[in-house]
Amino acid sequence: MTYTPPSHFGATLRLHLNENTAGCSPAVLAALRSIDRLDTAFYPDYAGITAATERWFGVPTGWVQLTNGLDEGLHVVAQAAARGRLDAEALIVEPAFEMYAACADAAGLIATHIAPGPDFAFPLETLRRAITPATRLITLTDPNNPTGLPIPAGAIEQIALEAPGAFVLVDEAYAEFSGRTMIGPALDRHRRLIVGRTFAKAHGLAALRVGALVAHPETLALIRRLLPPFSLNICAVRALAAALDDRAYLDWYVAQSIESRALLYAFADRHGFRHWPSEANFVLIRVGDRAAAVVDAAGVRGVALRDKSAAPGCAGCIRVTAGVAEHTRACLAVLEDVLASRAN
Ligand SMILES: *Cc1c(COP(=O)(O)O)cnc(C)c1O
Repeated sequence: MTYTPPSHFGATLRLHLNENTAGCSPAVLAALRSIDRLDTAFYPDYAGITAATERWFGVPTGWVQLTNGLDEGLHVVAQAAARGRLDAEALIVEPAFEMYAACADAAGLIATHIAPGPDFAFPLETLRRAITPATRLITLTDPNNPTGLPIPAGAIEQIALEAPGAFVLVDEAYAEFSGRTMIGPALDRHRRLIVGRTFAKAHGLAALRVGALVAHPETLALIRRLLPPFSLNICAVRALAAALDDRAYLDWYVAQSIESRALLYAFADRHGFRHWPSEANFVLIRVGDRAAAVVDAAGVRGVALRDKSAAPGCAGCIRVTAGVAEHTRACLAVLEDVLASRAN
């Protein structure tokens, strides 16, 4: 498939929020343009799009709940975990997506942050020891944001077994890039295991707000009681339908992202910067004390990057989105320029 990505000339190249740098599939835009007057006037019906999403994930009817972005899903799972308890605790494995702490706080959960092991080793033993009878929510990200690293095989099910009173939320926002998922028989074996997905990243629908929770229907029933009846607007519904129908576009974008990861690794190797092999659409690179200055200087030159220095274990690290290869090349030209001018 041939596809021409939009030119970012004259605008900021946004590589700081792991967005799709090419934008959505052209088929999504056509679907949005075809929305008519009555479509906008009627409350949306989710039966068709929910069934299409269940087929996409290969799960039976009743196993998917669409949400207004995965962020809404994270909020509602935290609320379900806190419901009716004053002492409910959440465990958050660091470095973590910032929304987990915000959602725990909003729901009134007491959050305990689990530090990563050396070199971001998954802290399975620390996490197991932190589980108490009051643990109601454990949030895990696979592959992790901001490291791009996977959770070791078997760890998620072990945690679910040892914390039977907790929702174990596995955030798979980047699963299209990793090619791995917990969606499958494990969700039947562990009824409180919930997989979170988003169509913001690989499918390029961040501005439309569309995510999904995938879990056993018994668990989703608890979640549904807390959701408003019309979380998704009609644009999100139509966009998702079109995006799911255009697998070629997704495949093209994932291939671009993999090419971009290799370009970012090569850049880091050239400069002797520590980096981690990423299964997602971004790469974490340790540029050292100059991280903030590098991000600022790149910003002035029109490339937005993310300084992750303040996150646990991430001192001196920047996170760079790996999107369309051509965009990554443009970013690297700017970074080389920034590093060269700082060396003088
Ligand atoms: C981007 C991101 C999300 C948010 O997804 P939305 O659908 O845009 O709300 C959730 N989790 C992680 C780990 C993310 O990086």
